[in-house]
Amino acid sequence: MSDFKFDPSKQYIAVDLDRTLAHHTSDNGITTIGNPVEKMLFRVKKWINEGKKVKILTARAAPHVGDSPSVRKNQIAMIHDWLVENGLPRLEVTCIKDKYMKELWDDRAISVAPNTGKQIGGRLSGFSDSDLKDLSLQLINEIKRRKK
Ligand SMILES: [Mg+2]
Repeated sequence: MSDFKFDPSKQYIAVDLDRTLAHHTSDNGITTIGNPVEKMLFRVKKWINEGKKVKILTARAAPHVGDSPSVRKNQIAMIHDWLVENGLPRLEVTCIKDKYMKELWDDRAISVAPNTGKQIGGRLSGFSDSDLKDLSLQLINEIKRRKK
């Protein structure tokens, strides 16, 4: 039996950087960080004001980034500068998920229902953003209708 005790105060929301919190295209590389995605920046600020813990979860912090640990260190320093420039605290920057990760906000993540393999969110191939918006609205309306 494990003597591990889950501490809810350690829970956090993980937020991806490129294409989630900051604009990024495939041409941008990792020598700079794009302008903030305003809607996401607002959301993160709101969470922090509400006392929620937020971490930046990015592959930029992965050990393989660049050829040496110093490049990784530069990435984290650069991200901290970017956060401060955009009115955020120097949030923890990591590439590691753990059991305290409550949510992951990421442009590549596909959400699945626990223990089922059923896709319940995220990118569906072959659909445009407006298709997905329409689909979401239809689903919301269907759920509301069923609850009546
Ligand atoms: Mg991303």
